[in-house]
Amino acid sequence: MTPRLVKTETFEHEGKNYDLKLFSDGWTFTVKSFREGREANGYSYAVVLPTAFDLNRVTGMDAVRVLFDNARNDIRERNWERYVEAYLASLNLKEDEGAACVKCTGRDIQIRIVDGRKMYRCATCGNIWYQKRSTGGGNEVILDAIADGVVENSYHEIDVLILLNVPFREYSGGPSFDDQLRNWCNQNHLGYDVFHQKDRRGKDAQLIRFTRKPA
Ligand SMILES: [Zn+2]
Repeated sequence: MTPRLVKTETFEHEGKNYDLKLFSDGWTFTVKSFREGREANGYSYAVVLPTAFDLNRVTGMDAVRVLFDNARNDIRERNWERYVEAYLASLNLKEDEGAACVKCTGRDIQIRIVDGRKMYRCATCGNIWYQKRSTGGGNEVILDAIADGVVENSYHEIDVLILLNVPFREYSGGPSFDDQLRNWCNQNHLGYDVFHQKDRRGKDAQLIRFTRKPA
């Protein structure tokens, strides 16, 4: 059975009129966005009848309503345009990992050099990521593990002794451990908490947990 038009909803956004059309072949419900008779973007939103039925039975949710809402939001938030822009940027700047934010596809990216490598920060959503390092010493290995660990897992824990002895070691006339730690955290938009934990031999260890500071 060929899909037929079931319902049309219209709405206005930034002075332009959009038609959201619901099609169904009796099994699948699909919503697409149109403007002046042409498809407004590359998205289509679909749900099959059993899923729509289950959603309604279990959660009272109107699945077709959700399709219309998603279609409307993607136009209001320019998600398709942002996706296309990010994709085109990635074609031009293939070698540059900082071309677009993977979380929001934003392209307003601030770059700073931290610990000798690039730190990218999305101005739109605050997402942070780093250039991959090809070489580095002990300090870099430890600091990268923390910075990359927070990117991947949203936190990273490490024994205070390692930081005291390697990257933030105190030396005569130099900054204190606390100052070095705080300065490094500020550069990387990190916060930290110190806590105690028994290690495998039951010995008390002091650990630091690093997390992302809110944007
Ligand atoms: Zn972003």
